Amino acid sequence: MKKLFIKTLQVLAVLYFFIAVSCKGVEPAEIMLSVAEMPGSFTPAQHLVFIGLDGWGGAFMSRANMPTVKRMMAQGVSSLNIRCIMPSISWPNWSALFSGASPEDQNIDPFPTIFTLVNEQRSRPALFYEWNDLQNICSDETAEKIRILSDLESAQRAAVYIMENKPVFTAVVFNEPDSVGHNKGWGTRAYYTKLNELDSYMAIIEQAVKDAGIYDNTVFVLSSDHGGLLWGHGFNMVSHRRIPLVVYGSIIREGFVIPGSGSICDIAPTMAAILGLDIPGEWTGRPILGVFK
Ligand SMILES: [Zn+2]
Repeated sequence: MKKLFIKTLQVLAVLYFFIAVSCKGVEPAEIMLSVAEMPGSFTPAQHLVFIGLDGWGGAFMSRANMPTVKRMMAQGVSSLNIRCIMPSISWPNWSALFSGASPEDQNIDPFPTIFTLVNEQRSRPALFYEWNDLQNICSDETAEKIRILSDLESAQRAAVYIMENKPVFTAVVFNEPDSVGHNKGWGTRAYYTKLNELDSYMAIIEQAVKDAGIYDNTVFVLSSDHGGLLWGHGFNMVSHRRIPLVVYGSIIREGFVIPGSGSICDIAPTMAAILGLDIPGEWTGRPILGVFK
């Protein structure tokens, strides 16, 4: 039975691949937003550090012991109500987060990601990832891709890389608290313990930015791909679909809570705007310009 299920999945995946390949080939759209259109006094950040936590649901923040995140929320811009796309699972959402569009709207190949923009308009970005599939987010030519393990050593490795290279854009994506969620349950003591541990990793990365001497010119963006409930996720439920977004840095407003909701597709355009990058017209997300002072 399990074999038949896997076989069916494989057939569907192959079919999907051929349909997807045959549908790509649309001409690139023009630039949607150029830096020249940004607010007059706007000075882009020189560095951006994105930290992603797989399975970090917005609903769990009120009880979470995450002092680094909560300090950045208090001194920066935040939302606990950013909507991930359906199905509320990892691949389509990491793809949407870094590509500014949901997979069904990624109608040219290769579709530009935030890594493409940084690589073309600034310098080579870095992606630290734990979940193996994430290596497909961008090509080897587009970014320095470094596989990590979700532990202290990994955070330290990203920290050393930041201190040595001072990249314009660094993305660090941990595979937790998703694994703990699946094993022990979302919102359990183990889940909150893992969130606290991940917060300490963020503190290590933040300290590295300070030690690199680029803290005043760096913006931090923290977010996730989906939430969860009990031992899973994937459905159209608030606990599965609402994720946090925290934006913190010297050019970012203080203590501002983004009203209403927003889309995970808005995160890449917002990061591009923070770095003063031209945003491609193919992206369906829009920069949250309210994050700026
Ligand atoms: Zn999961």
